Amino acid sequence: MLTTRPRGTEDIIAPEADVWQAVEELARTLSHRYGYEEIRTPLFEHTELYARSVGETSDIVSKEMYTFTDRGGRSLTLRPEGTAGVVRAFLENRLYARPLPVKLYYLGPMFRFARPQAGRLRQFHQFGVELLGAGEAAADAEVISLAMEFYRHLGLEELTLRLNSVGCPACRPAYREVLLAYLEPRQHSLCADCLARYARNPLRVFDCKEEGCRQVLAEAPLVTAYLCPECSAHLAAVRDALRLLAIPYEDDPYLVRGLDYYTKTAFEVIVPGIGAQSAIGGGGRYDGLVEAFGGPHTPAVGFATGLERVLLALGVRGKTLAPPAGRKVFVAAADAAGAAAGVELLARLRRAGFTADRDYLGRSLKAQMKHADRWGATITVILGEAELGRGTVTVRHMQSGEQEAVPFAQVVEALKEHLAR
Ligand code: AMP
Repeated sequence: MLTTRPRGTEDIIAPEADVWQAVEELARTLSHRYGYEEIRTPLFEHTELYARSVGETSDIVSKEMYTFTDRGGRSLTLRPEGTAGVVRAFLENRLYARPLPVKLYYLGPMFRFARPQAGRLRQFHQFGVELLGAGEAAADAEVISLAMEFYRHLGLEELTLRLNSVGCPACRPAYREVLLAYLEPRQHSLCADCLARYARNPLRVFDCKEEGCRQVLAEAPLVTAYLCPECSAHLAAVRDALRLLAIPYEDDPYLVRGLDYYTKTAFEVIVPGIGAQSAIGGGGRYDGLVEAFGGPHTPAVGFATGLERVLLALGVRGKTLAPPAGRKVFVAAADAAGAAAGVELLARLRRAGFTADRDYLGRSLKAQMKHADRWGATITVILGEAELGRGTVTVRHMQSGEQEAVPFAQVVEALKEHLAR
């Protein structure tokens, strides 16, 4: 136990952590370019928040939440997704009083208790954006275009964007009745999960991966055929806006997504070759959620992508992100006087923005050089009493092995010049 992490969690360690940083930096940069600002909500919220937004009948709430009672007797839940917390914060901090739309992004861990497999963890990370206060189809298209740009920058091509509409409170109840009537005589063919879904939220049956259920659904009436004029027009406008942005998409009338709060647009991005968990990201519109929490009518649309799946897809494609520029300098000492001067030089180098390090194990000069090499130093600066007496140090280029004498006072400038080349 002491040396084993909990199932479904991961340690992220360099060099992989460097890739994480690059992916996160891209998420931040792109978000800012699109006018989104960061929001950091708590990692846990009142359990009720998720029950009331994600939905009691969703897989997340019914079986995947990390719920605990704190020492004050309150029921809290580690966040399984980002939207509910953002909407709660939008209301609590009166962000609706700001100029609309309010555009927010988040980046961080989420928690779901599901059976771990490739691309499915119990603690995973999401990058997500929420655009609150805009009902136009152009807003849906913007969120989708940010998502696709994120993947494009990472070099992920061959993605499929699947698009659907799940209707709204005006048209979904009628469709629900039609679907119930279709499923009723076919109940015996549904799996146990879907039987429970059938009674409480029949649309959810579309999320099932069981072969029997899929066969039942092959002939089922589809939500798209029952959309009200407003939802139909919205879907058509999203398609037009995507065409305008030259973003290819596929209509997927079976796509419903697992959360209760979606209205109108639902979409998912699929990447081939990463196994069963091929949905790399997804999102949709949730026009009624803010109001359901007691806030003003605020149409909204959002998107989230799982970073583990992004990395998995990057790995599968054999693509790696450019490593950070090599500016690593090792400061080696030949003797005590060199070590003393090295302390000062190290500080100067770090202040000048170099990644710089020294020995802390009393190693011989030879062992220091070996260590510098293994650490990946581009340059090693060697300091010794005799040379320092002449006011110089030795600069060694690790790859070529070439060495030169450089005045001690000018090392930083000389290295800046070298490493800029
Ligand atoms: P969802 O909120 O379920 O639509 O999830 C949005 C995205 O988060 C998915 O497309 C995945 O990339 C990622 N994701 C969801 N659940 C997990 C999980 N258990 N492990 C890893 N990634 C996940």
